[in-house]
Order: sequence, then C-alpha cells, then structure tokens
Amino acid sequence: MEFTSARHVADTVAALPARLDLASGSVPFYAEQGGEAALFEHAFRQRLPVLIKGPTGCGKTRFVEHMAARLGRPLITVSCHDDLSAADLVGRHLIGDGNTVWNDGPLTRAVRSGAICYLDEVVEARKDTTVVLHPLADDRRVLPIERTGELLAAPPGFMLVISYNPGYQNLLKSLKPSTRQRFIALNFGYPAPAVERTIVETEAGVAAPVAQQLVQLAESLRRLTDHDLEETVSTRLLVMAARLVASGVSLPTACRAAIVDALTDDADTAAALAEVVSAVI
Ligand code: ADP
Repeated sequence: MEFTSARHVADTVAALPARLDLASGSVPFYAEQGGEAALFEHAFRQRLPVLIKGPTGCGKTRFVEHMAARLGRPLITVSCHDDLSAADLVGRHLIGDGNTVWNDGPLTRAVRSGAICYLDEVVEARKDTTVVLHPLADDRRVLPIERTGELLAAPPGFMLVISYNPGYQNLLKSLKPSTRQRFIALNFGYPAPAVERTIVETEAGVAAPVAQQLVQLAESLRRLTDHDLEETVSTRLLVMAARLVASGVSLPTACRAAIVDALTDDADTAAALAEVVSAVI
C-alpha cells in the first residue's frame, strides 16, 4: 500500500523553511524520545539518508510524518512487502489504448518532486529492490531509470528514509551491509514512561490516571521474557486500549481486547498476560 500525503504540498526547495514551524496545526503530534528530531533535521540538511530501527508501534511512522511536516516536505510512504519489486518503486510501462505509457512509481515521484520517500519495513522487499536505492543513498543522489534511459538527479528537498524492525529479522531478511552503510541509523525503542503517558493521554484523550495505569501495565508486560510472544505490547496498542476507554469501555475489557488478545493466540500465554493485567489494573 502506498499513499501520498496531500497536506504536505510545498514542492520547491525555495519553499524550505529556515526554521521549524511547530505552531502550525498541520504538524502531526510527536513526543520525542531524545534528540531524534534534531538529528533527523541535520541529516536532511546534509542530504543524508536515514534508517530507523525499532519494534512495531513505537512511533517510527509518526516520527517521519512529523518531520516531513516540520521540514515542509511532501511525504510519500511505501509499505514494503515480499512481492515488492524494483519496478513497483521506480515505475513501469502500462498499456492503454494501444499505446504504452510510462508510469512513475512512488520512488521516482518522490525524486521528481523533492519529497521525503519513506520505505516502511524495507527488509520485506525483494533484494533487487534495495539495490535501486544505492545510487540515491550515497553522494551521487541519482535514480537511473533503465526502462526510459533517464538519469534523475535528486533535488535538495528529496530525502530517503527507510525503517525496519530488527526483532523480526532472520538471517535471510536483514539489510545487506552495502545497503545499510549508506544510511545514518536512528535506534528507536518504546518511549520512556513519562513520554509514553503523554502520548497515550494526547492520542486517546484519556485522563492522566488511565494513561498512568496503561503505561504501568506496559512496563510489567515488557518485563515478561519467558513467554512465546513475538513482540510485546507497543505504544500503538496502549493508544488503542485507551481509545476504547475514552469511548466508554471498561479498562479491563479494553486491555483484554487491545492488549492480551491482540498479542497472542495461545491460551496459556493469554492467561499469563491476563494475570499481569489483573495485578496492575
Ligand atoms: P511504527 O511505525 O513504529 O510501527 P507508528 O508511528 O505507526 O509506529 O505508531 C503507532 C501509534 O502510536 C501512532 O499512530 C501514535 O498514535 C502512537 N505513537 C507512538 N509513538 C509516538 C510518539 N513518539 N508520539 C506520538 N504518538 C506516538
């Protein structure tokens, strides 16, 4: 799936703001974990591509949306999957009315328009896909389009951002060193409790004590290591539980639906998680 965020429409490099404009309502809320916004901005100014590592639901996508808005850049997001080919990113000839017409892929559109291109879960994509990123991700900053013979030079406003979740990886699915060494890396974890409380309160509109309980629950669940969980409770799940509460669902029911049953299909594991919930909530 891929979407272009229409609200970020400044397209020319001349339109780049010299300063951050956080007062404008169009910047999505993002609570910082610690210095990542400044680092991202330096990378943007230096035209360096960024790799964001971290577990699912810890704020990677929201961070990129926030930074794109802060920097006044359009954002083009691609969720990578194991069938995603280089042509899906770069483009292809389509046949219509007896003619073949070239159709830019999302990466090419991002280069042409000086957007931020965010490839989410990039290790899911096929190997040939990451190779097309190489000339864009080093100091050449070009995109060769073999099919049309074009060599597109990326304008200063273009930025490549990729993310992946190291937790899921196996040996077959990690980034090649030749790819990863072209990016500066930001390592995300779940936010510190005070930050996570603010996120839950703000995103779900719940009272501070509810956010406090949910974050405390998350701390306890994240300490569990001996259960068969692929991943533990994310900030996203806490926000979902809190939204149910804001809508009138009781806290234990919300935790069951948004946390326990969302995390596991295994009855024993669910019982162990439910025990932690009833100890904390
Ligand atoms: P990821 O891309 O890491 O899987 P997301 O960025 O989609 O995670 O975050 C999931 C949800 O959690 C967001 O929609 C938002 O509600 C909330 N969230 C997580 N971290 C933050 C944060 N630092 N600031 C604001 N909201 C956050």
